[in-house]
Order: sequence, then structure tokens, then C-alpha cells
Amino acid sequence: MASKIYDFLVIGAGSAGCSTAFFLQKSAKKVAIIDREGIAGGASGVAGAFLSPLPGKKNNYNTFVNKALNFSIDFYEKLIPDSISKKGVLRVTNDNFSKEKLENNDIEYEYFDSNKLQNISTNFKEIDGYFYKDAAVIEPLSICNKLVEKCDFYKMDINELVFKDGIYYIQDIKAKNIILAQGVSKSIIKHPYFDISPIFGLRIDVKTSTRIPFNIHKSISISTNKNDGTVAIGATHERHDSIQLECITTCDKCVSYVDHEKEQVDYLLEKAKELIDLEDLKVIKIYKGARATIKSYFPVLGKIVDYNSSLKKYPSIKNGTKISQEMLDYYPNMYIINALGSRGFVLAPYLAKILSEHILNETPIPKDISTQKLFYKKARKDKSQP
Ligand SMILES: Cc1cc2nc3c(=O)[nH]c(=O)nc-3n(C[C@H](O)[C@H](O)[C@H](O)COP(=O)(O)OP(=O)(O)OC[C@H]3O[C@@H](n4cnc5c(N)ncnc54)[C@H](O)[C@@H]3O)c2cc1C
Repeated sequence: MASKIYDFLVIGAGSAGCSTAFFLQKSAKKVAIIDREGIAGGASGVAGAFLSPLPGKKNNYNTFVNKALNFSIDFYEKLIPDSISKKGVLRVTNDNFSKEKLENNDIEYEYFDSNKLQNISTNFKEIDGYFYKDAAVIEPLSICNKLVEKCDFYKMDINELVFKDGIYYIQDIKAKNIILAQGVSKSIIKHPYFDISPIFGLRIDVKTSTRIPFNIHKSISISTNKNDGTVAIGATHERHDSIQLECITTCDKCVSYVDHEKEQVDYLLEKAKELIDLEDLKVIKIYKGARATIKSYFPVLGKIVDYNSSLKKYPSIKNGTKISQEMLDYYPNMYIINALGSRGFVLAPYLAKILSEHILNETPIPKDISTQKLFYKKARKDKSQP
């Protein structure tokens, strides 16, 4: 029997890949998704998964994040209402978020002093903070599964793609277009104009008899009591910027993962204790994973520029000559969505909608998140001889 030809094959079934598959499939396209670990088997199955605003004086980055947040909360509520708990977040000042930063916003907030918090629950410690109502916590696994329920799923590890006569061949699977949504994993295609760096993290699910009225965030986050009766506490951050890591598996199976599980769990519990008394506390599950980031903190989206071939064709780009993005060379019918950082579930549906509209209707991708912006930046610093 001749195998099916998919319109789109998404590689990576995390929040980025599953959201992209969802929007493409909605437009009556035949979509398949592949992952070597299963659905949400990478960072996405590890996430807290908190959806919180980014307060502070307006800039390009927080404007983008907060726009994505509003879109995504609304999207998840419609998609699978049982998997989202929208009760808001109390943000307590910390080293990065001073009182001024938490007050200086376009986002609606209410100040809760310690008396008000004590009236809500006597379990709160002597803290005060800023309450943002548009914040939530979600169930990442059920969301990712729901997003791809109408797509074919294959559990496979992909190491190379064969392209012939306009079709990609991956073992028995054929596809007209490829979307790379690989998170921190070693990329199948070379993109020397940006490096994805992992930021490792650990988080826990706990059980407690304490009622937590809303999410609480200081340097770590504590969720409200979720629908499954657990509370999420997370997460730690561990950067390894000095080395270029190429992830080929998840952290729990990785031989180079530095394990200080006990210290990290103790750290999270210690930080949680500074905010609220959690009675009858029991840690029931530990999750480890790595967030994918690039230096600019923005995610990256769009057609994949072929760096070497574009520079060979237009070497004067290195001297600042302006060559329009339409004239660059690209890997045929191949797109990327990656570097969603610490806010993968906040950004993924919003980015996936932008990417699918770009692919289907050629709607432009905003410059800050485009592959081309990174290409030009790297090319103009490239001192190699043609
Ligand atoms: C500890 C921790 C806590 C977090 N908390 C939050 C939070 O509270 N809120 C929030 O919004 N975000 C949070 N995040 C971030 C969020 O998890 C990520 O931004 C998001 O999951 C990234 O999704 P992704 O699809 O890009 O990557 P991933 O979920 O990692 O998906 C990539 C997938 O691609 C697969 N893959 C890669 N290469 C191949 C290949 N060659 N063949 C087959 N399969 C392949 C991998 O197996 C993986 O499943 C947290 C992350 C961590 C680590």
C-alpha cells in the first residue's frame, strides 16, 4: 500500500510542535507529528505550568509576552476548560521585580497588604504583594494531547531528512513541509546564526491539606490547588552558557546531567515556606528538564535560512549591503519554532498561530522573532573570507 503524503510533518511534540500542528490541522491540512519520547516527553511535560504576566515598564519584550498571555489563556479555556485553573497570581517583590516594577504597568493589578492576605488565609506568612487576575496554571500533558488528537503521531527519533522532487522522506513517512520544534535537542538542520542554550530546571508536585487561593510567585512559584488535587512548586534555574550542549535525550536519562536533586527540592520547599505554610506536605513527583533559549530571549520563528548558501550568493551582506529577505536562500519548505524559554505555554499558541498564518497565507512574521533578524545580525559580524 502506498504510504500517505502529509502536508506537514512536525518534529517535536512539545508545546511548540503540538500548538503548530493544531493550527495547521485546523486549516484542513493533513498533519503528522513525531517525537522520540512521546507527546510532551521533553521540557513541556516538566513545566509548572504557570501562565503569568510580565510586569514592568512597557518594552518590546513584555508587550509581546503579555499579548501572548492573553491570547493563550483564552485559547486554553476554549480548548480544554478542565485543564486550566485561572485564579490569578500574587507577585511578591524580589531582586528582579521591585515595587516600582510591579506597579509600573499597563496590566491591571491590586495591591494586597499582609492584613488582607491574612483575611484570605491565615497560612500566609508576613508578606504583601501585587495581585494580577489574568494568570493561570494548566495541565501541560492533557493540553498537548488534546492539541494533536486529530493528527497522526509517530514515536521515532529522526536524525536526517531526505528531500527529493519536492517531498521529504522520513523512513516510510512522506511530507511536503517540515516544521522543526525540537526544543533543546540537537537540530536536524544547521542554523549557524543562532545557538540554542539549555537552562536546566527542576520542579515538584506536592500534596497539601492547605487551600491556596491563587498562584504565588516570588523567586519560585506555588500554584493554587489544581484540579487533580496537587500543587506545583517550581522551578530552579541552572545556566550552562559557557559550553555548547547538544541534547540527544531528556535530562532524566542524560549522563551529563548534574544531579543535585535533594538540594534543589529542599531549596524549592524552603522558598515556598517563606510565602505560605503548607500543612501535611508531601512531595509526590519530581520533574527535570531544560528550557531552550537564545541570547535575545525572544523565541525564533519562520523559514530556515540556509546561512552558507545565502552568504555565498551575497557575500556583501557581511559589509552591510541590504539584501531583502525574499532573496535569501532557504531550506525548501522547512520552518522552525523554538527558543520559547521559560514561558513555553504562554507563547506557544500565539506563536503557532503566527507561524501557521505565515505558512498558509504568507502573513509576515514580526521582526523581533524572525529567523531573518538573527541571520542578518550574525552575517554582518562574519569576518570569514568568501
Ligand atoms: C523545570 C521547568 C519549568 C517550567 N515551567 C514553565 C512554566 O511554569 N510556564 C511555562 O509557560 N513554561 C515553563 N517551562 C518552559 C516550557 O516547558 C518550555 O518553554 C516549553 O515546554 C518548550 O516547548 P518546546 O515544544 O519548544 O520543547 P519541548 O517540550 O522540549 O519539545 C521538543 C520535543 O522535540 C523532541 N525531539 C527533539 N529532537 C527530536 C528528534 N530528532 N526526533 C524526534 N523527536 C525529537 C523531544 O523529544 C521533545 O519532546 C518550564 C520548563 C522547565 C524545564
